[in-house]
Amino acid sequence: MAIIHCPACNQRMSSVAKTCPACSSPIGKLSEEDRERLQARRRKTRIYRARNVTYVAMTLIVLGMLVWWFQPPSGLALPVPFMPALLFGLGTVAYVVGWCWLLMIRFGRS
Ligand SMILES: [Zn+2]
Repeated sequence: MAIIHCPACNQRMSSVAKTCPACSSPIGKLSEEDRERLQARRRKTRIYRARNVTYVAMTLIVLGMLVWWFQPPSGLALPVPFMPALLFGLGTVAYVVGWCWLLMIRFGRS
């Protein structure tokens, strides 16, 4: 017996249950192989989304660098102007969130 996610509502449930305790979907009709395939597909989708978050985050940071460079006074003048600082901040937060999400997927949570 293993803990799986219901294909209909994504709640955690036992792999031997005939129906989902949360939404009553008839899981018993799925073979063990189907369930594993569903689980693997969900996991892949989540990893894909989490990676996209980290890519968007890196793009924000690169954009921040470009704005910082080209916005007058040009060059990497200090103090960091508002727009690049905002982009760095958002990018950093999104990057950390994306990686925490990836780690949660890797270690079996989420
Ligand atoms: Zn369900």
